Amino acid sequence: DELPTKEALKKAAEEAHAKFKDEKEGKNADYIPALAKVPSELFGIAIVTADGEVIEVGDVDYSFSMQSCSKVFTMCMVMEESGAEAIFEKINVEPTGMPFNSIKAIEHGDGRADNPLVNAGAIATVSMIKADSPEQRWKKISDYYNLLAGEELKVLEDVYVSEAETNFRNRGIANVLFNSGNLFCDPLEATDVYTRQCSVGVTTAQLAMMASPLANDGVHPVSKKTFLKEDEVPKVLSIMTMAGFYDGAGQWAWKTGLPAKTGVGGGIFAIVPGKMVIVAFSPPVDQYGNSVRAQKAIQYIADKFEYNIFDED
Ligand code: GLU
Repeated sequence: DELPTKEALKKAAEEAHAKFKDEKEGKNADYIPALAKVPSELFGIAIVTADGEVIEVGDVDYSFSMQSCSKVFTMCMVMEESGAEAIFEKINVEPTGMPFNSIKAIEHGDGRADNPLVNAGAIATVSMIKADSPEQRWKKISDYYNLLAGEELKVLEDVYVSEAETNFRNRGIANVLFNSGNLFCDPLEATDVYTRQCSVGVTTAQLAMMASPLANDGVHPVSKKTFLKEDEVPKVLSIMTMAGFYDGAGQWAWKTGLPAKTGVGGGIFAIVPGKMVIVAFSPPVDQYGNSVRAQKAIQYIADKFEYNIFDED
């Protein structure tokens, strides 16, 4: 069926913004010290439709670190480079029901990480990129992200340094994966490149632009470039549905019914298959590390247009 008009989408986004801008629940993540300093009142919403329209409301010029939203894009890149089956075989596609940085994510089965959207699996995904050096590994990711965004994105160096100085837990996870043959480059290299990709700054519209091929059968609605094979898109969306919100994934699916990915920086993108990407950003997060205002805003917009992948009519 038809896409809503740009005006109708803008109105819904404005309503969501007005309704939740004074929401006081949640607080900035502070285990990465730089994230604690991001102004908590920031709140932006962007929508990119499958025909390339861009709608923006609120604090849409602020570049926030994409954090775990990046995990999806690197997974797409590896699927394109090595095939979707490589993700299934070398990592896995099971939900963890555990926090994003859980060490249990590597203890459930045979030593592989549970899925590419928790830290363990995301670091393993980075290690699967074919590269001869750390520089090349990073450049391939960075070039891919820029292509998706349609412009050059920058690493927020303060966020990168802050996480690189404190990411002992992720380094530990990488070492354990490497020890069992489930990480495919030097563990410190994988962790460092992963930390860098998490620190890439995006505005809400840039994040929506990056995710737009997932709402359009793998084809970017603006550049028309194919980023994923059509039959790989549902695979990405299935993992997002089960693991995009970590141990909050069930609640999110229950309330909203849209595949989505969160980042602890406060950004969330949700996919309405074949129709649009809805992004919201606001730093205060709940106990699972998912932005409170962003969840409510996306849920409001999805409800308004009755978007729910479990309720097609
Ligand atoms: N860079 C963060 C970490 O590894 C990402 C976590 C998240 O966004 O959930 O801890």
